[in-house]
Amino acid sequence: METKLLPLDVDSLSQGAALIRRGELVAFPTETVYGLGGNALDEAAVARIFAVKGRPADNPLIVHIWEHKQAEQYCHWSEQAQQLADAFWPGPLTLLLPRKPIIPLIVTAGLDTLALRLPSHEGARRFLQACSLPIAAPSANASGRPSPTTAQHVQTDLEGRIPLILDGGPAQVGLESTVLDITCPHPMVLRPGAVTPEQVAMVVGSCDVAPSVMRPLQPGETTLSPGMRHRHYAPKAQLSLVEGDREAVAAYICRMVDQQPGARILAMGVNVPLYAGRQVDDLGADTHQAAQRLFYLLRQYDDENVQRVWCEALPPTGLGLAVMNRLARAAQFDIRHAGV
Ligand code: AMP
Ligand code: MG
Repeated sequence: METKLLPLDVDSLSQGAALIRRGELVAFPTETVYGLGGNALDEAAVARIFAVKGRPADNPLIVHIWEHKQAEQYCHWSEQAQQLADAFWPGPLTLLLPRKPIIPLIVTAGLDTLALRLPSHEGARRFLQACSLPIAAPSANASGRPSPTTAQHVQTDLEGRIPLILDGGPAQVGLESTVLDITCPHPMVLRPGAVTPEQVAMVVGSCDVAPSVMRPLQPGETTLSPGMRHRHYAPKAQLSLVEGDREAVAAYICRMVDQQPGARILAMGVNVPLYAGRQVDDLGADTHQAAQRLFYLLRQYDDENVQRVWCEALPPTGLGLAVMNRLARAAQFDIRHAGV
């Protein structure tokens, strides 16, 4: 199959919508990462999403809508959902709500809950509206690869497997949406993202964070978020995180790197001078930039066949929690403390 890569405009949007209505898949930009969209009401299209990505069938998909009032067609809406939607939609927040039967079970991997999101990216919303259908869309990467933050990343992973990629430029957030379970008594973040637990708590009073966000699942432990069972964000390189005071972290990383020729360093911009004379990649000035750059840099390491990466740990608060969640999983939870 030929894969077209077109800038997102009126013409490509209508081509995309026609493909979706025929049961085909289209990759499209959102503010978080690129999504691989298919008609959420069409079981065959949804099955194709799993097949094209090589995604395990037990990992459910997020359904995307373009206006608030659609939500009640697909799930049992609540007052709390309304408060959160008023505060954070359109935006990078996915709400878990009880599923209505119109959504096929293949979308939710057999679960009674549905993950629903209204993205803020203008091109994404125009695409969804042009389709006039709820769109099931996981990240548009091959399963196990970092999520795509550019149309070129999608092309690398899915060339020849889908008919169309809509190019809307680099993703603004760079990390996948916050997944928030509001079917339990206290809202709980299952996957951290740009809408932080602190922000959610400001709106609904409290917000828990699932334990599996920052540590591996224990044997026999179940998780509410099936995605947490799988090793996402797996770079080819072995990655280790180092936490502690900034000077101690830098000294530890320098010691390690000096023994391992070819090893790379991922550091916040302000700390880059601490690694003078070594190969350092700049995560940026703040957690916002770190989120934007992380998957891009991990993919670059894969392309360059980098074998070893040492990365500074970030404080796990605000957006830092989302960055650390992705980093910790990429590192298979190899987190060391400098100075010990
Ligand atoms: P992706 O779209 O590739 O970013 O993945 C969607 C994420 O949302 C995965 O981590 C899923 O496990 C999670 N998710 C989607 N639907 C549900 C659901 N019904 N219950 C729990 N987690 C879900
Ligand atoms: Mg994904």
